[in-house]
Amino acid sequence: MRRLLPFLLAGGLLVQGCAQPEGVAGESGDVRLLTAARIHTSDPSRPVAEAIAWDGEGRIVAVGSADDLRASWPQAEVLDLEGATVVPGLIDSHGHLMGLGFSLMSADLAGAASRDEVVERLQAYARDLPEGTWVLGRGWDQNLWPEREFPTAADLDGAFPDRPVWLARVDGHAGWANSEAMRRAAALDGARALDGDWQPEGSRIVREDDVATGVFVGGGARALIERAVPEQDDALREQALERALAAAVAVGLTGVHDMGVSRADLALFRRFADEGRLPLRVAAYAAGDGDAFADLCANGLYTHDGGRLWMHGIKMYADGALGSRGAALIEDYSDDPGNHGLLAQEPEAYADVVRRARECGVQVTTHAIGDRGNRSVLDAYAQVLGEEADSDHRWRIEHAQIVAVDDIPRFFGLDVIASMQPTHATSDMGWAGDRVGEERLAGAYAWRSMMDAGVRLALGSDFPVESADPRLGLYAAVTRQDADGQPPGGWLPGQRLTAAEALRGFTAGSAYAARSEGEIGRLAPGLRADFVVLAEDPLQVPAAALDELTVLSTWVDGEAVYLAD
Ligand SMILES: [Zn+2]
Repeated sequence: MRRLLPFLLAGGLLVQGCAQPEGVAGESGDVRLLTAARIHTSDPSRPVAEAIAWDGEGRIVAVGSADDLRASWPQAEVLDLEGATVVPGLIDSHGHLMGLGFSLMSADLAGAASRDEVVERLQAYARDLPEGTWVLGRGWDQNLWPEREFPTAADLDGAFPDRPVWLARVDGHAGWANSEAMRRAAALDGARALDGDWQPEGSRIVREDDVATGVFVGGGARALIERAVPEQDDALREQALERALAAAVAVGLTGVHDMGVSRADLALFRRFADEGRLPLRVAAYAAGDGDAFADLCANGLYTHDGGRLWMHGIKMYADGALGSRGAALIEDYSDDPGNHGLLAQEPEAYADVVRRARECGVQVTTHAIGDRGNRSVLDAYAQVLGEEADSDHRWRIEHAQIVAVDDIPRFFGLDVIASMQPTHATSDMGWAGDRVGEERLAGAYAWRSMMDAGVRLALGSDFPVESADPRLGLYAAVTRQDADGQPPGGWLPGQRLTAAEALRGFTAGSAYAARSEGEIGRLAPGLRADFVVLAEDPLQVPAAALDELTVLSTWVDGEAVYLAD
């Protein structure tokens, strides 16, 4: 990167006053030119190139050989990236920016190997917090602990007898409270006792002899505790968004599909866009049947003038997650007879929201993890779309994790996009087989089967549930192995993708899934100059090295939004 830095410092990359030869596309005189060892375009008509040129608006005007482009713009100063490889900007088709920001600001419990380790990390984290504030954390996973059982409030009470503690499980679907947090929740006006034998709809308070033990599975149950957590103030929310955006561009992301955005979140994103503080593109999806969705139906789809923010869709939930056995299965869990998980709401009520979205022209996507969850979504989509399944609706299913093999062709038939997260497979592979048994693994994290059935794939991470780093996603998609290369040959190796297919999933596939393929996802004339400069070529390195690619710089609208030191 020696050459890049002086280039950028000399006038913010903008080469002034370079004369334009007559008859060349683009009227502005400030065309910029980049050459590299290889440019992978994700454009089938020219998959590999040596040079790109873009105009002052950040739109690509030409892709081709270095000689041709130099000849076309002889005055343009050239950014020569020598041995580097350029790929289209990576787009995470499923993430949560506010969640990422807050997780960067709360106790990180990911990978903790025991309850004791959780408590130790919390104690270290809480030392820097103001006295009496809630201790918030996320990322715990009982599947990593020797006993593999849900924890209890008592595990936290020794270290935190009178300070409230609330910890989100790694999947975000379950939460773990200490006794003080439960006391405060129970003391709220109108609160229902956490003990007893009732359950909130579609979710579960874990109890022993009718006494809540401290774990709350599903949104309805979690809300009972979360009502007691003080609201994050505006300054904190702004700080969270800033941290999330900085973290995202540093790993090569130029776009994110934010899955579950409220009216307040959108207002914050919009302010950042207005102030030029949005370094990447955000396709925001309204958080269920809430205020943001109501705005879309009342005022029409939202698009920010700057091209970096829009809300055209709604994201709903069909079920929970597999780790906490909240995903809805057709048959019982293999390791929990009698339990086949939960649908988030009655199929009729769900279909009603889908129908309203259709009427408002809003793109629909739904979280579905279990085979019953996925089937219920496909059923509702089929019912609402009726004869119009081929109407370019771009409806999607998020996760599509455990799908009945017979239902895979239905994705194709209904033209439903499978938005999948490769790192979920490699995080879950140690216990997913326990949950669903051998037979159901045939349709588990089955991105190759989806692709072979003609289904369009969009790839992402579900950050902060997983790391936002798309290199880990590319690696997991291609190897189906953990960071240590286990298991040899990969888990369910028939489902591996090639590196080119995985890269397409994180670029053109994601762009298509947000109906933005006319702007981003490939490097071709007319599209935005969003790209990532890597030290290595992801299509040449061994698969085992995909998680170690070096991100040298990240570019959006032809401007560097991240530069490695
Ligand atoms: Zn998610």
